[in-house]
Amino acid sequence: DQNIADLDPEIAAVLDGELARQQGTLEMIASENFVPLAVLQAQGSVLTNKYAEGYPGRRYYGGCEQVDIAENIAIERAKALFGAQFANVQPHSGATANAAVLHAIARPGDTILGLALDQGGHLTHGMKINFSGRLYNVVAYGVDPETSVVDMAEVRRLAIEHQPKVIIAGWSAYPRTLDFAAFREIADEVGAYLWVDMAHFAGLVAAGVHPSPVPHAHVVSSTVHKTIGGPRSGFILTNDADIAKKINSAVFPGQQGGPLMHVIAAKAVAFKIAATPEFRDRQERTVRGAAILAERLTAPDVAAAGISVRSGGTDVHLVLVDLRNAAIDGKQAEDLLHECGITVNRNAVPNDPRPPMVTSGLRIGTPALATRGFGDAEFIEVAEIIATALVGGEATDVAALKARVAKLTEAFPLYPTLRQY
Ligand code: PLP
Repeated sequence: DQNIADLDPEIAAVLDGELARQQGTLEMIASENFVPLAVLQAQGSVLTNKYAEGYPGRRYYGGCEQVDIAENIAIERAKALFGAQFANVQPHSGATANAAVLHAIARPGDTILGLALDQGGHLTHGMKINFSGRLYNVVAYGVDPETSVVDMAEVRRLAIEHQPKVIIAGWSAYPRTLDFAAFREIADEVGAYLWVDMAHFAGLVAAGVHPSPVPHAHVVSSTVHKTIGGPRSGFILTNDADIAKKINSAVFPGQQGGPLMHVIAAKAVAFKIAATPEFRDRQERTVRGAAILAERLTAPDVAAAGISVRSGGTDVHLVLVDLRNAAIDGKQAEDLLHECGITVNRNAVPNDPRPPMVTSGLRIGTPALATRGFGDAEFIEVAEIIATALVGGEATDVAALKARVAKLTEAFPLYPTLRQY
């Protein structure tokens, strides 16, 4: 058995290079996180060899006795963590989970009502060339142009007018909590299913620092790799026995073949961690860090540079920066922060005057830094570095900010003992 370093030095170099990149920069992409060693171990295990089409106790392959244990544990932990009666932990990703949800509760041609992509929604909520936009009749709600907040009166008006089969509550770029009870009331009024996609804020829900959609939604989908900080994958919850059956058959054989048993084992590990007091503390630091960032980016010197924060603040793990009136655009801001050692992504603002590859906004998230151990003091320093760069624009002293970033990364070493191979 050859070590990867000998067998494939080119790919080994990528593993090394990526570890060094993660260690040496501040990761502030709102959808990313750092998984613990135990998740890497489960994901890099021999479970990757196993075919296990079907569900625990009802497989289409022999030799599933060990992986059945892992999947049952993952299911039970997901149910306990979110207070749900049913969980399917097989979706390979958030997108396949969402495909299975729509497959289970709608038919092609049915109307779905979700948050528009350019207002903070996800591709799978009805974007034109995504499966969701091609198979379903999409109606989209947006955010109020003044407040950047979802207007429930508008959601209700569209629901009554278009009579959707499914109403989708959930987002990829939105800084506030949604009113799940109000969404459910509208869904009940028009006879629609309420599907909540909590991919982004699931970790906050698990820790009790964000309202739970589970008591309100007919079905809830999620990823495991964002705020939860587990393996890259998805899962689906419901309290409705009939929907549960449909979800199971929509995931397999409806959408997927063999489940990724190594990833399912890693999900079980992530759910175990998510039930601990340390996880709760991490989610609290995550939310406080975002609030600190929002506060700094609404200070007078930032406002004077034409930069603002959408909705004026945040309830969650991310801040949306509005650069429509600033000297720099989204692409320039992303590149400038990258030069300083901070990774963020540019993001369209509603009615963005610039093209999608440029944009007039930034999405900045705190989950990965909270996992790294950052607390209020470090988030204050990070916020100061970001504010200095965005206000400074082209005149920014990049070297000085890079040195401040290096101080932080050195003080909070990431994977200090990890040997990748
Ligand atoms: N749903 C939401 C709200 C998301 O933000 C994302 C990821 O960006 C997904 C689903 C899709 O997850 P994945 O990238 O695992 O397919």
